[in-house]
Amino acid sequence: MIPPNHPRRESLLVRERLVEGFREGYVVPQGLIAHGRGECFDYLLGEATVEEAWEAERAAVAALLTAKRPVISVNGNVAALVPEGVVQLARATGAAVEVNLFYRTREREELIAEVLRRHGAEEVLGVGDDASCTIPELFSERRRVSCRGIYVADVVFVPLEDGDRTEALRKMGKFVIAVDLNPLSRTARAASITIVDNVVRAVPNMVKLAEELKALPREELEAIVKRFNNDENLRRVLRRISQRLVELAERGVAL
Ligand code: ATP
Ligand code: MG
Repeated sequence: MIPPNHPRRESLLVRERLVEGFREGYVVPQGLIAHGRGECFDYLLGEATVEEAWEAERAAVAALLTAKRPVISVNGNVAALVPEGVVQLARATGAAVEVNLFYRTREREELIAEVLRRHGAEEVLGVGDDASCTIPELFSERRRVSCRGIYVADVVFVPLEDGDRTEALRKMGKFVIAVDLNPLSRTARAASITIVDNVVRAVPNMVKLAEELKALPREELEAIVKRFNNDENLRRVLRRISQRLVELAERGVAL
């Protein structure tokens, strides 16, 4: 039991969700470590959605809404953290949902598809024989994708992705949207749109934005995507983090 007034309650509850997914067999131990690395950057951001992240989320939703074949790629951590949000976002943007794992086993694929269905997903791509197309990539079972999904997608939303994979998708000419708390990772640097935010905040924010942006004409949505500059956005995030640290250093942090 986590006491209701615990200062790190939110963060601990999120960890519990991952531990639960680990016990059920669809979150891998590497996923737990990856989350810890992300938490560190979340501390530096102040554990809140910063302005730059809102802008990236807005541009990302506009890209999904104007895509011909948008796909949301789901791994174990995403299934544990935001299953409902993924299903809602897919519905709001017309995106397909595909299971895509670095450590692929039939059992994990099925478990993740089951979690998504439990949260309302109608169709889940990338399970078993459905993942029979391959993307040119050196390592990992992640090269296997659905021929109806990521393989033919123009816009791929990969809430939590690895650097190699992001680069491989970009090389295939895809527009890649990533969520990554670390603005310095290869994923963050290689994506078309990088959302520097915790996935537990980013996906629900995007669901809200999708409801709002749906009403806009296509040209306006396209203009939002075009105006967004990922390099500039990442620079602003880095500036924000460094300024925040300088301010804290001047003010002091001792309890
Ligand atoms: P890359 O492969 O992109 O260079 P990496 O190898 O440093 O990055 P990975 O182990 O591939 O990192 O993935 C872990 C990264 O995923 C973390 O650094 C973190 O930024 C990001 N991450 C983990 N959990 C979350 C989360 N809940 N929300 C947002 N980002 C997260
Ligand atoms: Mg990596």
